[in-house]
Amino acid sequence: MTAIAVLGSTNMDLVAYVPRAPGRGETVTGREFRTVPGGKGANQAVAAARAGGDVVMIGAVGTDEYGSRLRTNLEHAGVDTDLLHTVAGPSGTAHIVVDDEGANAIVVIPGANGTVTALGPGEKAAVAAAGILLLQLELPMAAVTEAARTARAHGVRTILTPSPVQLLPSGLLDAVDLLIPNEHEAAALTGYEEPHAAAQILLRQVPEVMITLGRKGCLYAARDTEPVHFAAPEVTAVDTTGAGDTFVGTLAVALGEGRSVAEAVAWASSAAALCVQKPGASTSMPRRSEIDAA
Ligand code: AMP
Repeated sequence: MTAIAVLGSTNMDLVAYVPRAPGRGETVTGREFRTVPGGKGANQAVAAARAGGDVVMIGAVGTDEYGSRLRTNLEHAGVDTDLLHTVAGPSGTAHIVVDDEGANAIVVIPGANGTVTALGPGEKAAVAAAGILLLQLELPMAAVTEAARTARAHGVRTILTPSPVQLLPSGLLDAVDLLIPNEHEAAALTGYEEPHAAAQILLRQVPEVMITLGRKGCLYAARDTEPVHFAAPEVTAVDTTGAGDTFVGTLAVALGEGRSVAEAVAWASSAAALCVQKPGASTSMPRRSEIDAA
């Protein structure tokens, strides 16, 4: 089986459910509080492992109580955490306020994630030995770029989710094979709201682009071929948190098994559609048998 290396963030999501978000200097009484393992890197790793992938997570957690819970959560999903380092200080946290309309406001404090500024020999070896490398932008850019360049030097296929969206250095983009922004990120990166137009701009920098479009599915574009739109299954969504990470994690598993882009997207879309029908992010990611059954 092709190994999937994920270099990325591991955060504890601290979620407060409130009737409405407080303004500056204001206190509101909320309804409920939950702590949920998250971080874009960890979520993609969990999605890939649940879907049957052979997954190694590269990153860091802190020495606080969240650190051990975050590690255990990954291990329960079947992710190899030998390269998830424990560093002195707090784990990454995301402080999330969700209001009654479902809108959220988020403060992310990188904590241990911020210490991952370079790759050691063990991390480089894991990237070089993988078939696919999954990257996002919740770790320092220097480490993300170094991982992509290591992957490129060893013929490893790199998939980048440009989230949280920011300026992408050409040293990183030059080493990316497939870029998977959502429609908002694609618009922010290019200035074009229309996905076909955004894809054409992005193809100047990377050979393949997949723009996810929520319930409208995704648009796949590669150099020298016509863009293809893939529809998503029609389902009733109750919580779309983690849909994008489920899509990317399961897509990597299918591509790693040598399936075509069309087959891989169909499978990943089924997985993401299952995810949105249940509340939560990593908790609602489907297992391989569930995806196959769907
Ligand atoms: P997004 O990050 O919102 O673009 O979503 C990523 C992927 O998750 C999409 O390409 C779809 O395959 C799937 N997805 C998201 N929202 C829905 C939905 N409401 N119904 C079905 N699939 C969805």
